[in-house]
Amino acid sequence: MSVRVRIAPSPTGFFHIGTARTSLFNWLFARRHGGQFILRIEDTDRQRSKPEFEQQIMDAMTWLGLDWDEGPSTGGPHGPYRQSERDATYNPFIEQLIERGLAYRCDMTTTALDALREAQKARGETPRYDRRNRDKNLGPDIGDHVVRVKMPTEGAIVVDDLVKGPVTFDAEQLDDWIIRRSDGSPTYNFVVVVDDHLMNITHVIRGDDHLNNTPKQQVIYQLMGWDLPKFAHLPLILDYKGRKLSKRQNVIKTLVHEHREDGILAEALVNYLTRLGWAHGEMEEFSTDESAAVFTLEAINKTGARWDMDKLMWLNQRWIQRLPIDELAKRVQPFFEKAGVTVDERLPAVLTSLQERSQTLVDFVEKGRFYFIDDDAVEHDPAAVKKFLKVSTGPLLRALIAELEPLEDWTEDTIQAVVDRFLAEKELKLGKIAQPIRVSLTGSKIGPGLYETLVAIGKDHAIARLVRGAALCEARAQRNQA
Ligand code: GLU
Repeated sequence: MSVRVRIAPSPTGFFHIGTARTSLFNWLFARRHGGQFILRIEDTDRQRSKPEFEQQIMDAMTWLGLDWDEGPSTGGPHGPYRQSERDATYNPFIEQLIERGLAYRCDMTTTALDALREAQKARGETPRYDRRNRDKNLGPDIGDHVVRVKMPTEGAIVVDDLVKGPVTFDAEQLDDWIIRRSDGSPTYNFVVVVDDHLMNITHVIRGDDHLNNTPKQQVIYQLMGWDLPKFAHLPLILDYKGRKLSKRQNVIKTLVHEHREDGILAEALVNYLTRLGWAHGEMEEFSTDESAAVFTLEAINKTGARWDMDKLMWLNQRWIQRLPIDELAKRVQPFFEKAGVTVDERLPAVLTSLQERSQTLVDFVEKGRFYFIDDDAVEHDPAAVKKFLKVSTGPLLRALIAELEPLEDWTEDTIQAVVDRFLAEKELKLGKIAQPIRVSLTGSKIGPGLYETLVAIGKDHAIARLVRGAALCEARAQRNQA
């Protein structure tokens, strides 16, 4: 039987890194076994589900390269793939369970239920529904009611998990939970079983936080007489200190689009998530082709995986270094645009010069914006000006400009030859002139190699900026006189 797996996100918020990792592991497993990966939108919470979140989920998955074989917009033989469009599918199964005496209507009010729970708590018992209507066979005419499933009252329910091994749940701990609410809508634990069954899902790979739901779901499979899929529950993603990631924490960015906006490459984020709780020997760097070729559920760690931002940044830098310049240019362009910087034909040279030293796409903008701004818009760091654009530097810069201006072939070698000759004639060391040039060109005393910067800026712009640098030195001379 061919492997069929799914991701079933709820469109109630932005695409989370936890869901991204679960999607990725499902995707890798499907690719490894030549199977299918299905996207199913779990919009059972009608109030909180929003079409824009559904779109955002699909955009984020597409950006990550996690393509799906069947889904809401793609279609497929088992649709619809949005739960809100499947109400007609679920109800006959619920009616069937009632008819077979395996589920029942219950008209206990929430007020009565609350009172029961309070009394149980006061007696030190676990609060739960007491099954009072289990055997009354109440009909559809009782008014407001829910439908509950008859769970086993004793014995054990064992979830044979591919990651965790067998996990035993005591039947006594599980009450007759609701499969259909009083408004007629079926609940998650019920619809997920129906959908997974009808969509021929072979492996349910999902977050650890669903492990407690699995015994409930297994009972539905048994009552319906359906084969169980295999289950694999992924350990949670933890923060730096090993704590569960919570919505309140704001140290780790938990949304995929936040990383994208920070200039993380999709390849790097996917690589990072691949290694977050899964390993193949000592290997750290994986393309999805490489990891899909060796991916197994057995190699998933049993314990939670700690988020490590330094590692993500390291991987991002590695992936940036691998990108061909034209591809890098495509990825970087939107970041320049967002920063209001218009790039031009110098972009490839600029990127080449920054590629080794940039960890994110945003870095390229921060380090590269000075190339593209107007020459008279370069902002000079006052401390750098004070230190390097001194009164005595003005004449040196002027003399160097005069040497550089006639240069027709503007390359690192030709520029260096001019500078070397200039320094030799004046009996000066490069240190005397290097920082004044850099500060004039970039405004700052830190930057890439001097000659590559001169080349990447281009001759006319470089000369114009050197002239401004010289003028700054001269302005100081005037101020000193005044
Ligand atoms: N809608 C659930 C979630 O987003 C999916 C649970 C499952 O995979 O069964 O966590």
